[in-house]
Amino acid sequence: MIDVALTGAKGRMGSLIIDEMRSSRDLKLVAAIDIVGVGEPVLGDVFVSDAREVRRVLRESQPDVLIDFTVPSAALDNIRAAADSGVAIVVGTTGFSEEQFSIIEDTIKSAGIAAVISPNFSLGVNIFWKLVEMAARSLSDYDVEIIEMHHRRKKDAPSGTAMRTVEILRRSLGIEDIRYGREGMCERGREIGVHAVRAGDIVGDHIVLFAGPGERIEIKHQAHSRSAFATGALRAARWVVKAPPGIHSMEEVLASS
Ligand code: NAP
Repeated sequence: MIDVALTGAKGRMGSLIIDEMRSSRDLKLVAAIDIVGVGEPVLGDVFVSDAREVRRVLRESQPDVLIDFTVPSAALDNIRAAADSGVAIVVGTTGFSEEQFSIIEDTIKSAGIAAVISPNFSLGVNIFWKLVEMAARSLSDYDVEIIEMHHRRKKDAPSGTAMRTVEILRRSLGIEDIRYGREGMCERGREIGVHAVRAGDIVGDHIVLFAGPGERIEIKHQAHSRSAFATGALRAARWVVKAPPGIHSMEEVLASS
């Protein structure tokens, strides 16, 4: 049995992960942590614990893995707490600054724990990234734009998935200039355009558009439900407890589980 602690337990993703764990035979929720709903029952004999006491909660519940779906500043604290307790981690939170991410890397490295960090745990998006990389290699002269769409409550923009896509395109095409939206006079240069739409209850769409003379290709992923992310995060949790120390990608999880 793998003992799981969850930060952001009352959020959209946290609630789905708990729902999936209800029927799991190999994962057991031992701690549910949030800043809201403290004291509310969650699953079995687990009640929501106060996020301000994350260190004590981890010490007492002794999970094998912490899954974090919160906000960047909170995730940073939670990762530090897990690292201090020697607990493996799965991080789904997006929107880290470069500085925050480098603190996370140092924390995980110096604690010698294993972590899976991914802005998108769905199987489909991980295939989408491979297709984008393949297309970029053959269409290096085409203009490239990323369009992402999410629900109106999403806090960060562009999405973590879009930013990972930027990195893949940057590496494959050798383009350094990123243009976030356009307004006014703006001649197109050798750049990657990135556009974020926030509307209604869209779960998450990502399109990479390659356009050249007389044609265009669009590679598109649409999430219909957050359950694809929850299933992937739990797959990562099962994998990370046996993984060597260091930061691992969802690609590694999917390749070997
Ligand atoms: P959400 O519904 O806002 O849930 C986040 C939860 O974390 C909320 O209940 C929030 O409370 C709580 N929280 C805030 N600070 C906390 C702290 N210090 N400790 C514990 N909990 C805290 O957001 P969501 O849609 O679940 O998404 C969460 C994160 O996951 C976002 O960064 C999102 O972009 C990312 N995400 C990743 C994937 C993936 O596959 N990697 C998929 C979907 C979403 P309040 O509401 O009071 O702030």
